[in-house]
Amino acid sequence: MKSYLKQYINGAWVESQGGTRHDVIDPATEQPCTEITLGTAADVDAAVVAARTAFDSYSQTTVAERAALLERIIEEYKKRIPDLAFAVSSEMGAPIGFATAAQVPAGLGHFIATLKALNSFEFEQKLGRAKVVHEPLGVVAMITPWNWPLNQVTAKVAPALAAGDTMILKPSEESPGCAVILAEILDAAGVPPGVFNLVNGDGKGVGSALSAHPDVDMVSFTGSTRAGIAIAQSAAATVKRVHQELGGKAANLVLEGADLAAVLPPTVQGVLANSGQSCIAPTRLLVHTSQVAEATGIVKAMMEGTEVGDPSVMGAHIGPVVNKAQFDKIQGLIQSAIDEGATLVTGGTGRPDGRNAGYFIKPTLFTDVTPEMRIAQEEVFGPVATMIAYDSEDEAVKIANGTPYGLSATISGDPAKAAKVAPRLRAGLVTINSWSPDGNAPFGGYKQSGNGRENGKFGLTDFMEVKTVIGEP
Ligand code: NAD
Repeated sequence: MKSYLKQYINGAWVESQGGTRHDVIDPATEQPCTEITLGTAADVDAAVVAARTAFDSYSQTTVAERAALLERIIEEYKKRIPDLAFAVSSEMGAPIGFATAAQVPAGLGHFIATLKALNSFEFEQKLGRAKVVHEPLGVVAMITPWNWPLNQVTAKVAPALAAGDTMILKPSEESPGCAVILAEILDAAGVPPGVFNLVNGDGKGVGSALSAHPDVDMVSFTGSTRAGIAIAQSAAATVKRVHQELGGKAANLVLEGADLAAVLPPTVQGVLANSGQSCIAPTRLLVHTSQVAEATGIVKAMMEGTEVGDPSVMGAHIGPVVNKAQFDKIQGLIQSAIDEGATLVTGGTGRPDGRNAGYFIKPTLFTDVTPEMRIAQEEVFGPVATMIAYDSEDEAVKIANGTPYGLSATISGDPAKAAKVAPRLRAGLVTINSWSPDGNAPFGGYKQSGNGRENGKFGLTDFMEVKTVIGEP
C-alpha cells in the first residue's frame, strides 16, 4: 500500500494538524491501495498563509521565468509517467494501458498547451485612452474530482503557475496519489516554496474550508453540480471568483442518413472509454426513427465486444467504476430505465459474468428511451448508452438541449451538415464524428455545467485579473 500521510505546504512535506487517516480503495479488488490524511481547517490556514506570502515574489516573476519553470516541469513530469499511471489505475480503476496512453498524457498536455499560450499571450493591450493589463490573480484554491484526476488538476495548476498565481490544491480523496506525485514533480522542477501547496482531504472538511477562506481569491472547481452549488454558496460571503467545470449529459446527435457503420464506432467509443466516467461521454444517442434498428445492431455489437477486466493488466478492456457509491448509483439508474419501460438490449444490472468482486459494470444499451426518463436526464457515469428516436432535426435539437446540462455535444454524420447544426446546440463543446476535446481550445459548460473556461489561452485568461489604466503618458 502507498502511504501519503503528509501534506505539502510551503515547499515541505509536513504532518497534518489534527487530520485523520483515510484508506483509498482499489475499485478492482475492493482492498485499500493508498493511505492519506484527511486534512483540517488548520492545514488549510497554513497552506493559505504560505500561498499568500509566496504571492508577493512569485507574482513579480517575468513571463520568461515562468515559461522556463513550465519547461522544467514538463521534463520532470515525463520522468514520472509510470508512477503517475500506476496511481491513476490503482485508485480509480482505469486500465494501466489507458492510464498510460490517455490519462497521463492528458495531464502533460495542459503544461504543453499552457506554455504555448503563455509564450504568445498579450499581457497588455491599448483600448482607446486605456492600457489594459492582465495581472496575476492571487491565491487560487483548486478542488478536483477523481475521473480524470491528473487532467483536471493540471488544467488548473498549469495556467495558475503561468499566470503568476499561487495555489492550494485539494484533489479528490478517491484518487489523491497522482496529485502527490505531481507535488513531487513540481518540487523537483524548482517551483518556489509556497507557490504550490497540496492539502489532501474531503469535501466537507478541506473543500469547504478552502471555499469559505477569506484570503483565497478564487476557487477553481471541477466536479458535480451538487458540490459546485455548495462551493459557490460558501464562496459568496467573500465575493471570490468561482470557476466551475461541472457535470454533463452529452447527446450524440446522429444525423438522418448518416453512414452509421463509419460514424458510430468513434463516437460511441466515448461511452465506453474510462468505463463511461467522462463528463463529455456522449451517452444519449439520438437516432432517426428510420435508422434505429441498424444503429441498435452496431452499438449492441460494440457493447458486447467490449471486455471488462483487471485494470492492472495491459489490454484494450475497460475497468471498474471508481467506488461502491458509483456502482450502486449506476445499478439504480439501470433499474430505473427498466422500470420506466426502456428496452434493455444488452448488459443490465449485476456484475459481468465471472466477476464476484470489484465495481465492474456490464456495458449496457437501452433503446426505446424517452427524453424525460431518469436514464436520459441524470449523469450515469458508467458504460451505459441510451438510444432515443427522433423524427425531425428540430426534434433532435430540442432533445439534445433538453437537460439542465450544457457541457458538450457530439454530432455524427456529414461534417458539412453537422456544422450547420452545431450553432443550435447549447453546449460549450461540440465535437463532430469524435468525442474528444482539444487541449488548446476552450473547455467549459453552458447552463448547469459551469462557468469559465479551461485550456490554453482561454484558461490562462481565467486565472488572471484585468486592470485598466487611464492617463499614462
Ligand atoms: P464531487 O463533486 O463529488 O467531488 C469533486 C471534488 O469536490 C472532490 O475533491 C470532493 O472532495 C470535493 N467536494 C465535494 N463536496 C464538496 C463541498 N461541499 N465543498 C467543497 N468541496 C467538495 O464529484 P466527483 O464524484 O469527484 O466527480 C464526478 C463529477 O465531476 C461528475 O459530475 C462529472 O461530470 C464532473 N466532472 C466535470 C468535468 C468538467 O470539466 N466539467 C470534468 C470531470 C468531471
